[in-house]
Amino acid sequence: MKAEDKTPGKVCLVGAGPGDPGLMTLRGKELVERADCLVYDALVPASVLAWASPDCEKIYVGKRSGVHAMPQSQINELLVTCASRHACTVRLKGGDPYVFGRGGEEAAALYAAGVPFEVVPGISSAIAGPALAGIPVTHRAHCTQFTVFTGHEDAAKTESTLDIQGIAAAKGTKVMLMGMSRLRRTLDALLEAGQDADTPAAAVQWAATGRQRSVSATVATLADAVEEAGIGSPAVVVIGEVVSEMP
Ligand code: SAH
Repeated sequence: MKAEDKTPGKVCLVGAGPGDPGLMTLRGKELVERADCLVYDALVPASVLAWASPDCEKIYVGKRSGVHAMPQSQINELLVTCASRHACTVRLKGGDPYVFGRGGEEAAALYAAGVPFEVVPGISSAIAGPALAGIPVTHRAHCTQFTVFTGHEDAAKTESTLDIQGIAAAKGTKVMLMGMSRLRRTLDALLEAGQDADTPAAAVQWAATGRQRSVSATVATLADAVEEAGIGSPAVVVIGEVVSEMP
C-alpha cells in the first residue's frame, strides 16, 4: 500500500502459541507469510519469524533485560502507524493474544483509530504448559473447574487487584502465569489465605521448546523445589490434584 493511500491497512493480532512453531494455527502461519510488517514480542519463536517474506519489516517491541523495549501506549500508536503504511501488519504475541498479552488494549486502540483488525487465537501456555508436562488441566477424577491468574500485575497499579482469598478458596486447578519472580511470596499469601499446603503443585519452564523443564512438589514446598532446580521465567505454575497425574 502506498503511504498516500488514506485507507488504513489491516492489523492482525496473532497468537504464536507456546513456543513450538508446530503449535501455531494455520491461519496464523498464512498471515505471517503474507505480512508486510511484523510487530513481535520476546516469547515469539525465531522459526515463526523466519516464515515472513525477506522484505517484511520486522519490529521488536518485547522486553530487553527485563525492561519493556517500548511502553504499551507507544505499541498501540505504532500499530496504528503501521496500518497507515502497510496493507497487512501482523502483531505476533506468545500464546494467545488475549491471555495476559495486552492484546485487548491493542484491539481497543485499533478500533478507536478506525483500523480494521482480525484476531487469531493461539494456544495459551496456560493450557499447553501443563499439558506438555503431562498435567491435564481438568480431569474428571480431580476437578470440575480451573482458574488462570497472573502472579505479576502491572507495576503502575498502586494496589493489587489480585484476589488471593478468592484464588485460595477456589476449587479445582489453578494456573499462574508470570509468577516466578514473586513465587514464594504468592504461595505464602495463598497458604495464609487458607490454601491447603499439601496440594500438589508444579512449575513448567520453557514449555513447548527444547529447553522445557519441570518440577513438582506441593504448595508448601514448590518455592524450594524451584530454587533448587534453578527454574525461572518463563514458567507456568500449576496447583491442584491434577498435578498428581504427572508421570
Ligand atoms: N499470552 C501468553 C501469556 C503472556 S504472559 C499466553 O497465552 O501464553 C507471559 C507468561 O506466559 C510467562 O511469564 C509465563 O508464565 C507464560 N509462558 C509463556 N510462554 C511460556 C512457555 N513456553 N513455557 C512456560 N510458560 C510460558
